[in-house]
Amino acid sequence: THYIELKGVRQNNLKDFNVRFPLHVMTVVTGVSGSGKSTLIKQILYPALQRQITGTGEKPGEFDELSGDWKMIHGIEYVDQEPLGKSSRSNPVTSIKAYDEIRKLFSEVAQKMHYDFSPSYFSFNMEGGRCEECQGEGVITVPMQFMADITLVCESCKGKRFKEDILEVKYNNKNIYDVLEMTVDEAIEFFGKGNNTSCKKIVEKLKTLSEVGLGYIRLGQSTSTLSGGENQRLKLATYIANAGNIKGHTLFLFDEPTTGLHIHDIKKLLDALNVILLNGHSVIIIEHNLEIIKSADWIIDLGPTGGEKGGYLLFEGPPEQLINCNNSITAKYLRPKLEPIKRT
Ligand SMILES: [Zn+2]
Repeated sequence: THYIELKGVRQNNLKDFNVRFPLHVMTVVTGVSGSGKSTLIKQILYPALQRQITGTGEKPGEFDELSGDWKMIHGIEYVDQEPLGKSSRSNPVTSIKAYDEIRKLFSEVAQKMHYDFSPSYFSFNMEGGRCEECQGEGVITVPMQFMADITLVCESCKGKRFKEDILEVKYNNKNIYDVLEMTVDEAIEFFGKGNNTSCKKIVEKLKTLSEVGLGYIRLGQSTSTLSGGENQRLKLATYIANAGNIKGHTLFLFDEPTTGLHIHDIKKLLDALNVILLNGHSVIIIEHNLEIIKSADWIIDLGPTGGEKGGYLLFEGPPEQLINCNNSITAKYLRPKLEPIKRT
């Protein structure tokens, strides 16, 4: 198997060790808070690889050498919790490019009604069909000098974001505003009833959102209203939606992607990560969640505690072997999850 290796890592509390990251598998970096996980991944591995691959980026933390098969990696993505687009205009459905298909579908419906509305008329980012009063946002933000800005529903479109004739165009009794108000799961059901290629494409893209546990968010919801964990999963969905288009072998780094995720959605997240692996990429995750840890192909466990007494490499290998590691807190919690249930 191929792997990359960091030698002599000693930034912050890391105790000058060598560590291997196998490629094309899911590696989970574990350990108590403050044990050095983020230092290893965010401060050393990520910037060190980025410098090798792109020749740019921040100076990595202290270590001796990056070796192994790092030349096999063509790209590196650090999937953090920052919103994809800082502007209120970016939203889930545009991020995964499902909106292009939805606009096309509505334009086709419009043609049948003898309206000459091109797909761009159904965009809230371009002039034409959107309400110009609020520029398609549905709300108007009033800057206040000594207090927080006030957001008011647009008087002109009554919050519906588009001009009246655009809203008259309906596909199966729903206009473009109604669609943007649907949750991802509702939209999958709605477009799932359609028997045309547009609907099939829309459903396929929307499913990447429900696969990462975002079935409850609304299509037109601004990404600025999403939590850090939701933004991280939206990014993951974006990568999956484009997985076939990513050229070469990419290493994806995640920092606690289960934050705020319900138990039943963790399974979905694992499936989503698996799609990335099946597309030939590699995944490294910093994670506390035991469901993720026990599903790992490879574990790197740091500890035994946080701070100065931490920063040692306690274990590297598959989860079944970690449970034999006596001074690891991760092993202690993982043991009952992996051991066969004993009969009393
Ligand atoms: Zn308006």
